[in-house]
Amino acid sequence: MIIKPKVRGFVCVTAHPAGCAAHVQEWITHVKSMGPIKNGPRKVLVIGSSTGYGLASRVTAAFGSGAATLGVFFERPSEEGRTATPGWYNTIAFTRAAREAGLYASNINGDAFSDEIKAQALETIRRDLGQVDLVIYSLASPRRTMPKTGAVHKSVLKPVGASYTNKTVDTDKGIVSSVTIEPANEQEIADTVAVMGGEDWELWMNALAGAKLLAPGAESVAYSYIGPEVTWAIYKNGTIGLAKNDLERASRNIDSMLKLAGGGRAFISVNKALVTQASSAIPVVPLYISILYKIMKANGTHEGCIEQMQRLFATHIYAPAGPRFDEAGRVRIDDLEMKPDVQAAVASIWPGVTTESLSALTDIAGYRTEFLKLFGFGLPGIDYDAEVEPHVLML
Ligand code: NAD
Repeated sequence: MIIKPKVRGFVCVTAHPAGCAAHVQEWITHVKSMGPIKNGPRKVLVIGSSTGYGLASRVTAAFGSGAATLGVFFERPSEEGRTATPGWYNTIAFTRAAREAGLYASNINGDAFSDEIKAQALETIRRDLGQVDLVIYSLASPRRTMPKTGAVHKSVLKPVGASYTNKTVDTDKGIVSSVTIEPANEQEIADTVAVMGGEDWELWMNALAGAKLLAPGAESVAYSYIGPEVTWAIYKNGTIGLAKNDLERASRNIDSMLKLAGGGRAFISVNKALVTQASSAIPVVPLYISILYKIMKANGTHEGCIEQMQRLFATHIYAPAGPRFDEAGRVRIDDLEMKPDVQAAVASIWPGVTTESLSALTDIAGYRTEFLKLFGFGLPGIDYDAEVEPHVLML
């Protein structure tokens, strides 16, 4: 099969296995180039490990610290005439590379919200690893099926309290337009908190602790975003922001539990806005990211998922002095994004962006390049006109 990108709105419905493998290899190369992380993790569970920040965490743990990793994710294999999702190919590429390097890597593909997948993960840890010393929780999901009742909650990306109007960009067509989003109702707020809040993280951590699968001093980290005022109505103060507040609530509970259990800790890392499958679905945010990339690339502070996660591990989680927390107890690796000069530059560019000025004022080209890379397209050294086998078995 010859595989080309097929972009439909904010998703690409094809993925290139060799391109995804090359992308994962770029990340591995970066982590190795940064040198070993001293006293890093040894045995790691990553929930949401196949793309974005979760995959970058897994690559960092394995190739920066020689850790054994168990990855949990929800990806679709190839079917007749259809490629697999990128996370499927990423995971195979990661697993091959890890095993070639002599590292344990095991995978569970299924719904992390379910009791069955939690039980499978616990059993795998008991059998193969004994205990884990780090748990990364990096799920980004549009829905959650409650294991006990079968009820399905769907998350929405909406403002709370009042409607919100701002500019947004169709990243595929390059059209800037005004979008108005009506506020969420109480049910939509509750549903979004159920999906993207902290309850499931707590269920995972309590299950691991109950089964004595957490090593003394075990740590757990989940990811959040705050961002600039221009996105607050749709992010920080919107339904997703309320879910992230609940994640912070869960973080405090898990932190107390881990401290009592053996001097461990849990915390939230606030990460930078980056092109991922999850962020491309949020209105307004891709336009902000396109402007942000332009500014951060120009001043030499741009980072991708892998640079962010390598920095999180090396300079916070496993730093000799430990993580540095903000006033709310969170780690801030969004520090470079949130610098006042960067945000002032975004704010000055924002009003002038139109369809006509999009290419000149923003890094929409860089956004598109990064977006296609998520699906394995545009990687150097890959012949995209060559036949490639889309059907690859999970390892
Ligand atoms: P992503 O879409 O790249 O990755 C999501 C991961 O979750 C994938 O591995 C996917 O397979 C897995 N997943 C989704 N539903 C699942 C399910 N039911 N069961 C098992 N696995 C499931 O997303 P991302 O952008 O890397 O987001 C990860 C976390 O980082 C989220 O909490 C997000 O809010 C946060 N974050 C993202 C950004 C950003 O700009 N992308 C910034 C800061 C924080």
